[in-house]
Amino acid sequence: MITGAILIGRSEEHTETTYTAVNPATGAAIEPSFTTAGLPEVERACALADAAAIAFAEAAPETRAVFLETIADEIVRIGDDLIERAMAETGLPRARLEGERGRTTGQLRLFAQVLREGSWADLTIDPALPERAPLPRPDLRVRKVSLGPVVVFGASNFPLAFSVAGGDTASAFAAGCPVIVKGHSAHPGTGELVARAIQRAVALCHLPEGVFSYLPANREAGTALVADHRIKAVGFTGSRGGGMALMRTAASRPEPIPVYAEMSSINPVVLFPAALAARGEALGAAFVGSLTMGAGQFCTNPGLVIAMDGPDLDTFLASAAAAMVGSAAQDMLTPGIHSAYVDGVEALAGHSAVTTLARGVEPTGPHQAQGALFKTRAADFLADAALGAEVFGSSSLVITVTDMSEAKQVIAALEGQLTATLILDAEDEDAAAELLPVLERKVGRILVNGWPTGVEVCHAMVHGGPFPSTSDGRTTSVGAKAIDRFLRPVCYQNMPSALLPEGLRDGNPWNAPRRIDGVLKLG
Ligand code: NAP
Repeated sequence: MITGAILIGRSEEHTETTYTAVNPATGAAIEPSFTTAGLPEVERACALADAAAIAFAEAAPETRAVFLETIADEIVRIGDDLIERAMAETGLPRARLEGERGRTTGQLRLFAQVLREGSWADLTIDPALPERAPLPRPDLRVRKVSLGPVVVFGASNFPLAFSVAGGDTASAFAAGCPVIVKGHSAHPGTGELVARAIQRAVALCHLPEGVFSYLPANREAGTALVADHRIKAVGFTGSRGGGMALMRTAASRPEPIPVYAEMSSINPVVLFPAALAARGEALGAAFVGSLTMGAGQFCTNPGLVIAMDGPDLDTFLASAAAAMVGSAAQDMLTPGIHSAYVDGVEALAGHSAVTTLARGVEPTGPHQAQGALFKTRAADFLADAALGAEVFGSSSLVITVTDMSEAKQVIAALEGQLTATLILDAEDEDAAAELLPVLERKVGRILVNGWPTGVEVCHAMVHGGPFPSTSDGRTTSVGAKAIDRFLRPVCYQNMPSALLPEGLRDGNPWNAPRRIDGVLKLG
């Protein structure tokens, strides 16, 4: 049931400030009206999260694993109501949202598996060396502990997998951090349904109520959450401006805290000569398929293509242009995202050094994206940093280079990116090897002969990258390693056994992998 409530711990609250969700396909309001949390609600949610922090952090990993699985079960139990509400609020099609629900529950279950496996805690023991000369070594033991309450700003473009119970929330819960979600105004009903599923899971698992709160809030209240002294970290996915504003708030607190913000990325694709010669036509059509999927509203959307000028590139471009001309206009997630897209496309179309290669089918709805394909030369791209700005949606800029060393220059000039894609054949491998050291310093994931949209949720995934793709390129927001963002190490020196945390006691009570005197011992 959707009532437009704020959920603080186990209670449900309403304020007088209300708004309604908007169907982006029609521009029509969708019932019911939603209430907006203000500063009193921020205060109550933070106090509850603080009160729950130690008990949740010290709960056995198995308790948190069962909690994550219970959330997944409760999301599945919502059934089709969740999909239908998300369709109405986002304009995304059913198949996409059903897939996203599977990804959401899958990543919750992945973190349950991570907790049971045990290496997340990085248990490390250097036993005492009392006879060592000239000085004995004390007994030293390390484990990772949770940072404390985390605020999550969900993404508009993944209303399930990157929102209320998305990757940030799942990894923070796995780390033992209570979570307060600042609900995204683009999908409030979807958010509430999922928030209620988490609230039920907290009760079913007999956890302290402050483990989770859901605040559909305005920016003032969102900023107040980040500024609150009881909050110890932030997860964010959205615009560069929004991420930077929250980073500034976090950095200017008396106690600064980390903000893990995923912001903007244009995900370069490099077409190598042999691959282009062998299959330019097929590549052109496949590229546009990736570019226009979901109206291009993916953080890994291929917004930049780098290729050598010549007849093989012409074949690729002719095929890509034909596919683009036939690509349907698609509803975008929000009026704001749509107008930012239109502005970005207009800026490229009006740039003196940029040629418009093709536009998609004309829009018929109020917030539909018309795909766009542009071309410019490397020298012009290098001369104007504005050409490297993210245009969130189905727009891409092809940069022609005269040789692969110019491609290297273009890559070196890019800002940090989530992904880079290499389209290559065996004969291209030497040229690719030349680019790899530059790419490794620019991006978080390098993929070959695929398309960057579609991110596997697994142990070896990195969905992160240098600024501005994220605020901290040492981390990932997708996959098992995302848990590291919300943990820090604590060392225990000469601690009596009875006072040691369970995982570090002799006999390995957690049966977890532990590094003892430098040697990894599996549980
Ligand atoms: P957004 O405007 O940054 O909003 C994301 C969240 O942050 C929302 O909850 C928003 O609150 C809050 N917020 C934004 N600015 C804030 C500020 N100055 N102070 C406090 N809170 C703030 O992102 P969006 O609406 O989801 O999408 C807009 C643009 O973000 C897109 O056009 C695209 O460029 C980018 N984007 C990037 C990715 C990615 O993965 N890289 C994903 C989605 C979007 P309100 O809801 O109250 O505004």
